[in-house]
Amino acid sequence: MSTEQTFIAIKPDGVQRGLVGPIISRFENRGYKLVALKLVTPGVAHLEAHYADLKDKPFFPGLVKYMASGPIAAMVWEGKDAVKTGRTLLGATNPLASAPGTIRGDYAIDVGRNVCHGSDSVENAKKEIALWFKPEELNSYKSASYDWVYEN
Ligand code: GDP
Ligand code: MG
Repeated sequence: MSTEQTFIAIKPDGVQRGLVGPIISRFENRGYKLVALKLVTPGVAHLEAHYADLKDKPFFPGLVKYMASGPIAAMVWEGKDAVKTGRTLLGATNPLASAPGTIRGDYAIDVGRNVCHGSDSVENAKKEIALWFKPEELNSYKSASYDWVYEN
């Protein structure tokens, strides 16, 4: 089984709008295991590093300002195909193109206020987890529901 970890973050708008609980529930209800969780307000340098691939985009300054505007709920979720399925749970980057039933499709309208982040590849998930968490902040345990979520 390809057990993966993915970095999921509830952005400042999601925290301010009281969506921490509903967004966490999407991942819990699906069967994923919470490995790390903290509320943080990172500095601009940290956010520029997180979004380094987008530094030449015209929206980059606004994106960093948005992300630095309040606390972020940073999380690591683990399970089978967690990276790809995490992105599916989030929905399309532009919420207007996100299907109803996805997080962005249910809770957001503007691309610049799309309430959540999810790693887009296993490689980037590893980088993002290392950027946001110290190794000792990642919890290792067997979920009580494991044998009821997975066949093998
Ligand atoms: P994601 O992986 O789905 O979050 O999308 P990207 O990695 O392409 O972009 C990162 C974040 O930048 C998105 O989640 C949006 O918050 C923001 N973003 C992306 N494209 C645009 C855009 O065209 N305009 C604005 N204002 N923000 C954007
Ligand atoms: Mg991205």
